Amino acid sequence: MAAAAAAAAARRLSGKVCVITGSAGGLGKASSILFAREGARVVCADLDKAGAEDTAERIARGGGSAIATGVDVSKPSEVEAMISLAEREFGAVHVVFNNAGIMLGADDDAVATSDEVWDRTFEVNVKGCWYGAKYGVPALRRAGGGSIVNTASFVSILGAATPQLAYTASKGAVLAMTRELAVVHARENIRVNALCPGPLNTPLLQEFLDTPAKARRRLVHVPMGRFGEAAEMAKAALFLASDDASYVTGSSFLVDGGITAAYVTPE
Ligand code: NAD
Repeated sequence: MAAAAAAAAARRLSGKVCVITGSAGGLGKASSILFAREGARVVCADLDKAGAEDTAERIARGGGSAIATGVDVSKPSEVEAMISLAEREFGAVHVVFNNAGIMLGADDDAVATSDEVWDRTFEVNVKGCWYGAKYGVPALRRAGGGSIVNTASFVSILGAATPQLAYTASKGAVLAMTRELAVVHARENIRVNALCPGPLNTPLLQEFLDTPAKARRRLVHVPMGRFGEAAEMAKAALFLASDDASYVTGSSFLVDGGITAAYVTPE
């Protein structure tokens, strides 16, 4: 019995309640499953409610604790309801992982990108993180503190000659917002960090790279010569969410296979 209690305490999110958006998709799904395995009670939230339910069921089958909810992170009333649900069902919120994001197929350069594409991208990617903080911060205060993780991207650091201008600008905004949130809330025991993934082997990018030539065009710039996996991002998100990162706030946490460090890559 004592051994079981010690094992539970050793888990990195033991006793924590984590709200994860985009939990039906690559990175959000992998994080939901990993966070639950590390002892968290997880609120799996996604526009794709059936997908979020699927993630929560998978967690339950593995003996973990999770509930699912539909949310459109661009709608403040829905984000508020998501946070309320977490507090009602699990008693508190300790981690808000604002991970949902979109990259629209018609996103292009300055000339070709439409207002509609620009506005929708900002509504989801930027306002989604803002609303996560707007309703998440009061909940974290009620819990005595906690961690916010916002998913940005390596393109908030690097420009690309294959343009997706709205997406790139939106992720730059996420990074700037993360830094300011981190500073504003630093003395409330609330940490705020940005996870900046490199190009990933998830539907968001891979559906876009529909020919081998398009994939090659990217991989030549990645020192490791491969796309990142959702599970690799989840481990980084786990670090930022957990008390292991107790002195980490305001960081742009790059997990990118070395892409931002490279001038020339290996042949
Ligand atoms: P994904 O498309 O597999 O998952 C994204 C999830 O977000 C989906 O389940 C989708 O239903 C959900 N979603 C979309 N709009 C939503 C909304 N309005 N409200 C709630 N949920 C919504 O993508 P992924 O690769 O797992 O991406 C996760 C995050 O990582 C995104 O923020 C993305 O921009 C970022 N990112 C991805 C890459 C990459 O190469 N895939 C690289 C850098 C950053």
